[in-house]
Amino acid sequence: MAAVKNITITLPEWINEVVDWQKTYHNDQEKMALAVELSKQNVLRGTGGPFGSAIFACDSGKLISVGVNRVMPMHNSAAHGEMVAIMFAEQQVQSFSLHADGVKRELFTSCEPCAMCLGGTLWSGVKRLVCAATADDARAIGFDEGPVEASSYQYLTDAGIEVVRLVQRDEANAVLQLYANGGGEIYNG
Ligand SMILES: [Zn+2]
Repeated sequence: MAAVKNITITLPEWINEVVDWQKTYHNDQEKMALAVELSKQNVLRGTGGPFGSAIFACDSGKLISVGVNRVMPMHNSAAHGEMVAIMFAEQQVQSFSLHADGVKRELFTSCEPCAMCLGGTLWSGVKRLVCAATADDARAIGFDEGPVEASSYQYLTDAGIEVVRLVQRDEANAVLQLYANGGGEIYNG
């Protein structure tokens, strides 16, 4: 077996049909609507799990990156929607930190992050985390969110990251239900 020297993570082909990269986003509702729509399209088009994320510049409302869950198509357990959005945003700004240039950026996610993504949120340098569906909503259809505790969120808050939850929870949870009802695979290791 040859050594693997590169790992590729791609967004689905349909991304540019759904995402308007020129649009300016004015409020949390508009931003979360994009994250939830990404999660829904990922289910409807069969390109991954029922999770979507987007990263914006807080002040300008400009979209920096999007992510959808790519675990199964990429054979990559780390390719959660949040991590994909973070990795693309870091490439976009050409830094391992989304705060290195002093611009505040924010991560919107259709579901509260798992243990990996909550850590990834901390390391990414985003200054705001906004979530729709709850970790319990994800657990209810079989996903294991890992060791995410109230103290985990407190750690982020103490580190200067504003956390907002339950924005468009019902809409995001409906996507989780859509995935479960469609027989979507629950791919926990
Ligand atoms: Zn995750």
